[in-house]
Amino acid sequence: MSITVAFIGLGNMGGGMAANLVKNGYAVRAFDLSQDALDKAQGVGATVFKSADEAVAGADAVVTMLPAGKHVDAVYSGSVFGNAKAGALFLDCSTIDVTTARKVIAAAEEKGFEMVDAPVSGGIAAANGGTLTFMVGGTDAAFEKAKPILSAMGKAVIHAGGAGNGQAVKICNNMLLGATMIATCEAFAMAQKLGLDPQTFYDVSSVASGQSWSMTSYCPVPGVGPQTPADNDYQGGFASALMLKDLKLAVEAAGSVNASVPMGSNAQALYQVLVNQGEGGKDFSSIIKMLHG
Ligand code: NAD
Repeated sequence: MSITVAFIGLGNMGGGMAANLVKNGYAVRAFDLSQDALDKAQGVGATVFKSADEAVAGADAVVTMLPAGKHVDAVYSGSVFGNAKAGALFLDCSTIDVTTARKVIAAAEEKGFEMVDAPVSGGIAAANGGTLTFMVGGTDAAFEKAKPILSAMGKAVIHAGGAGNGQAVKICNNMLLGATMIATCEAFAMAQKLGLDPQTFYDVSSVASGQSWSMTSYCPVPGVGPQTPADNDYQGGFASALMLKDLKLAVEAAGSVNASVPMGSNAQALYQVLVNQGEGGKDFSSIIKMLHG
């Protein structure tokens, strides 16, 4: 008999992830507040339910892919804890604050359930293609149980340590990414004002000490380096609004442990300006346009 997974939150990411579970032989019990999302889930072979309570009841595992910590907290403390069968495994794949992730996992464990936080790296295309990377926080036992389910939706599943460490590694990485992208964009914009050709700057810096992933794998200048969202007017890729969300989570987490993150704070402020200008839907490398002035 196939393993039954309740999937709650079938939006841009969750829709593709649930479809990949179905493709890999899992019986998916789907719930979302949006009828459109439910219709799409039904179209890919999930069984849809009118409430999270019904979707969770009888499932062997529960996967959530929700917007923020408050949604995750509400769904677990309401429907999931109240309806899950004994021994069910919980996997929260949303990107949320570390504090809520640890709080919800502690509450699950107190009720006798095992749970991991498993945020993802990779966007909508990776969710659809089953090529996400999962960063997982939780006990060794919970990780081993979660791994096959996550592997059905991704190409890499990495255990980052105890509860909340999946979220911690994700926001530390994305804070680093936001800061290096801004630094890369600043350097390209200044190089051009100093009379340097962007290709020449790339040829030198990409093999010199200024090199970073933001430059060589995701160059923010159209026509320079590999094919990136810059070559498509900054469409697709990783939206600036989502980068801002992750930077806010990072700065908030830094405050909670008294970590000094001046670069992360500045990156948050700059992405806030970009989003306020109405550019939140564009790829995060489009911040180069703002820095060009
Ligand atoms: P989304 O807004 O498209 O989907 C979220 C879904 O959750 C929506 O369909 C909404 O109706 C549903 N929902 C909200 N509250 C609910 C509730 N109480 N019960 C049931 N359903 C509920 O968002 P998304 O882009 O799919 O992102 C989901 C998560 O993945 C977020 O935490 C985001 O930060 C993270 N993430 C997104 C991307 C991306 O590229 N979109 C990349 C990596 C991580």
